[in-house]
Amino acid sequence: MDEGTDGQEPRTTEETGPVVAVLERICEELAPRREGQVSDFIPELAGADPNAFGLAAVSAHGRCYSAGDDEAAFTVQSVSKPFVYAMALEERGLDDVHAHVGAEPSGEPFNAISLDEQGRPENPMINAGAIVTTSLIRGEESRSRFERIRAVLSSFAGRHLSMDEDSYRSEAGTGHRNRALGYLSMAGGVLEGSVEEAVLDYFRQCALNVTVVDLAVMAATLASGGVNPLTGERVISRRTARHTLSVMTSCGMYDRAGEWALRVGIPAKSGVSGGILAAAPGSFGVGVFSPPLDHAGNSVRGVAALEQLSENYDLHMLRIPSEPPSPVHSMTRAGGTLDVHLRGDIDFLAAEQVVSRLAEAVDDARVTSVTVELERVSGISQAARSLLTAELDDLDGAGVEASMSEPAVINEDSED
Ligand code: GLN
Repeated sequence: MDEGTDGQEPRTTEETGPVVAVLERICEELAPRREGQVSDFIPELAGADPNAFGLAAVSAHGRCYSAGDDEAAFTVQSVSKPFVYAMALEERGLDDVHAHVGAEPSGEPFNAISLDEQGRPENPMINAGAIVTTSLIRGEESRSRFERIRAVLSSFAGRHLSMDEDSYRSEAGTGHRNRALGYLSMAGGVLEGSVEEAVLDYFRQCALNVTVVDLAVMAATLASGGVNPLTGERVISRRTARHTLSVMTSCGMYDRAGEWALRVGIPAKSGVSGGILAAAPGSFGVGVFSPPLDHAGNSVRGVAALEQLSENYDLHMLRIPSEPPSPVHSMTRAGGTLDVHLRGDIDFLAAEQVVSRLAEAVDDARVTSVTVELERVSGISQAARSLLTAELDDLDGAGVEASMSEPAVINEDSED
């Protein structure tokens, strides 16, 4: 994991066009909504403008779209939790991290005393769990733990994130419930090192300043399997991105996880300052900001905007493709030779289709040799490769000369 993104990447946000129009329409429609309360949970947050409302989306191709208050800075708060969890996973591995924190939705508010029977916080998306994951990260001689965390969140955002000192101080002076959660986790034997230091670093990460565009880029980085689509930097592995999205899916929206899965179905994380980050796997990262919160602590306009985006713009993660992928670009026969050109991303399902098409084609006894060409393939999973290789071996065994021809560089599609 490279923690070194200090350079400001130039970020071009599209100003016109049909995608911006979609976001603008949602902003206009939802701006008049007046429900919800601006949080005064941290004294410093109480002064937020209830009318501020911004929406941004970043595609897996790295295009940025935004509408409304897209330059307003706010503190990231709980939206930092998935990234610190991801960092802990990269450094300590899944089993070690989950020896310290659970992976079950708590069904309770973010600051609840949610510890399971083993003394672990229920999950890393609530305060108790996030304080524990923070404690699992180590500082280095040259860089404190917080600076390492800041560097990783900055790599996710593709630019250096500054910290709001006032917000940090406000929370450090009042956040005694979080200290209590830290001590309870320590009593359960799952928080490492000093509670006070872990809690202060947790407050610091919560006080990092972001805009909706930052949230959308951070989300798009998760949605793209850990590679920031703007800077091209790999921040975490694909496997860690998958684990992080899984926990966001079940635990990211506090006690609204079930309803969220039903109506939105995009792995997401909300924060008390009014931000929501949502990452539609392989597709878009979305950021929303509007301070008034509902009873569960989620931004009212943010939830409504994501419901609309999901319902109308194909972002539900369980959206079922209208048809299975067609991995065969062409099949050409010349005499006894069969050339099969594949295309796109070859996963197990795609390989299964190729195998059945091949089986049909070589039923014709005149076929004496088969070549499977991978030039047009963008990635192939290990599962797909073993299935294809097994089929080619079988063909060989049956007397058909079978081989695979591939370019020098091919994306092995490994999650590590
Ligand atoms: N810093 C806040 C806290 O710990 C974050 C909570 C949140 O965003 N839900 O209370």
